[in-house]
Amino acid sequence: TAPGARTAPSLLARREASFAEVQEHYYDAPPQIERGWREHLVGTDGRVYLDMVNNVTPLGHGHPGVADAVARQLRRLNTNSRFHYAAVVEFSERLAALLPEPLDTVFLVNSGSEAADLAIRVALAATGRRDVVSVLESYHGWTYGSDAVSTSIADNPNALATRPDWVHPIEAPNPYRGRYRGADAARYAPEAAAAIRELAAAGRPPAAFIAETFTGNAGGIPLPDGYLAEVYAAVRAEGGLAIADEVQAGYGRLGEWFWGFEQQGVVPDVVAVAKAMGNGHPLGAVITSREIAARFRTQGYFFSSTGGSPASSVAGLAVLDGYAEEGLQQHAAETGAYLKGLLEELQTRHPLIGTVHGLGLYLGVEFVRDRETLEPATEETAAICDRLLELGVVMQPTGDHQNVLKTKPPLVITRESCDFFVAMLDRVLAEGW
Ligand code: PMP
Repeated sequence: TAPGARTAPSLLARREASFAEVQEHYYDAPPQIERGWREHLVGTDGRVYLDMVNNVTPLGHGHPGVADAVARQLRRLNTNSRFHYAAVVEFSERLAALLPEPLDTVFLVNSGSEAADLAIRVALAATGRRDVVSVLESYHGWTYGSDAVSTSIADNPNALATRPDWVHPIEAPNPYRGRYRGADAARYAPEAAAAIRELAAAGRPPAAFIAETFTGNAGGIPLPDGYLAEVYAAVRAEGGLAIADEVQAGYGRLGEWFWGFEQQGVVPDVVAVAKAMGNGHPLGAVITSREIAARFRTQGYFFSSTGGSPASSVAGLAVLDGYAEEGLQQHAAETGAYLKGLLEELQTRHPLIGTVHGLGLYLGVEFVRDRETLEPATEETAAICDRLLELGVVMQPTGDHQNVLKTKPPLVITRESCDFFVAMLDRVLAEGW
């Protein structure tokens, strides 16, 4: 370059200049990606990365069935769901059929935040109350209501000091590093139930209890057995509703169970779902009973311009077709068990791995400096993720201590890709931890 000549700003610099600073990107020096195929992403430099974190694309990147269905529909008709067309009816029926009785009534929206927010509004409308109980270390979205019940300090360091007064957080029932561990984890549920009763006794009976049905954002940790049964019973005994946030855990990722609440042996009153259902196309839903949905009338009408549009509905249908054609739930169970076995073998050789959480293809590799004190290996986790990227694996930390690998790849992941991920993790851990 001639002296004094200006070089064009990089795409990354332009992104940083035009985005609000709070919208972070993965990695300090992220690769520029331009296409994806199944569980792989391809950079502009031609490098291929194994995507181990993307739970929004269960059918994998670039899925032709979803792409073709949406493209065809966009050419033909796209409008809002106040019009009458087949796709929204067919998709709503198929979605409702995935849920147990009495959950038969669907509201379609565009994202997980909208679904969690609407679930809360449904509960406020149905009960005429304003208080909500949520669980610490949770994330439910960015809208006012879904953010209000979000308590994760990884997502918002000020979360606990800034929740509105109608939100009542209860302890995270973490059986690995929480106050009650192992078999003692059975003590979380009675304490949560007591907190709900105290709230009611203090004149603030909750409209709802909202929780992930499997603690996704906290690291892929199943709830203690019987937890939701006891807490749902407590909130219902006080006249409130049980809201299940299935945005991350639901839709087949847990393998044996299509929904996280099934693993807990309960049926919620209101379910919020999104992410996987559109394979990346914006699509979310709230599913509840006809009776509860009817009480939303007290809030007026419900309408979303693009929620349940023809394009979104055919995306949802194509995703369900893809699940059936590729046997994805079964694949998640088998491949998830295979991957967990490989990671548990790594744990026997690398002391940094404190434990491997999870079910199906929602796993969490938790790094600790000491297996007795469980001191979180936060800096190490960040460095491991950076090094994994150099070796061709996209992986990110999660949890309030940012010391868990959020292991939730597209559900189509092959055993060969699992082998590659574990071989690269083995290599990184052998290099220096
Ligand atoms: N609920 C949970 C459990 C989530 O993990 C997320 C997103 N990470 C949301 C809600 C919000 O979903 P969205 O980003 O689609 O708005």
